[in-house]
Amino acid sequence: MKRLAVYCGSASPADPVYIETAQAVGRALAERGIGLVYGGGRLGLMGAVADACIHAGGEVIGVIPEALCSKEVRNDLCTELHIVPGMHERKKMFTDLSDGFITIPGGVGTMDELWEAISWAQLGYHEKPVGVLNVAGFYDHLVAFNQHMIDVGFVREAHKNIMIVDDTLDGLITRMAAYEPHQTIFRMKADDL
Ligand code: AMP
Repeated sequence: MKRLAVYCGSASPADPVYIETAQAVGRALAERGIGLVYGGGRLGLMGAVADACIHAGGEVIGVIPEALCSKEVRNDLCTELHIVPGMHERKKMFTDLSDGFITIPGGVGTMDELWEAISWAQLGYHEKPVGVLNVAGFYDHLVAFNQHMIDVGFVREAHKNIMIVDDTLDGLITRMAAYEPHQTIFRMKADDL
């Protein structure tokens, strides 16, 4: 994995564990020589992951829509900063530029990005690993809901392991590197759907 997209919140929650996690992820990517692809802003966890990666000598590629340049305060320290027309172009570029996706804590925008990565993996628009870093139990309910979708039958057996969850970054990256793509919906027979 040469580059990973990191999805995370643009807010800064009061509990320091979240910003510290973002900083640790940014440093860890730089130390492993893995480039960071992210939303290109300076706010919240997004700014923290990028700054930590830049300060540790890592490659940071930001992708930000024109309309958010001032709101999310674009980060001109990025190695590369792409200003794109809108969210669709931004998310397509995250997918094209990265070899996998890590979601750390965040809000609604982060969830949109995570579920898109999972949904596109199911369909077959990409075959890249999708990891969730479950720090401080932040994603316990999301993991439980994902299991509920599997149990009820809305997530197919073939796709139940697409979401890779770990509570340590080392564990997550190791498991993402070993990820073997699952059968995609595009390759399934109509009778199997
Ligand atoms: P949030 O997790 O809501 O703080 O958002 C994190 C990132 O997702 C930010 O870069 C937002 O620009 C982006 N974002 C916010 N809302 C959406 C949305 N509805 N769809 C996709 N991305 C979003």
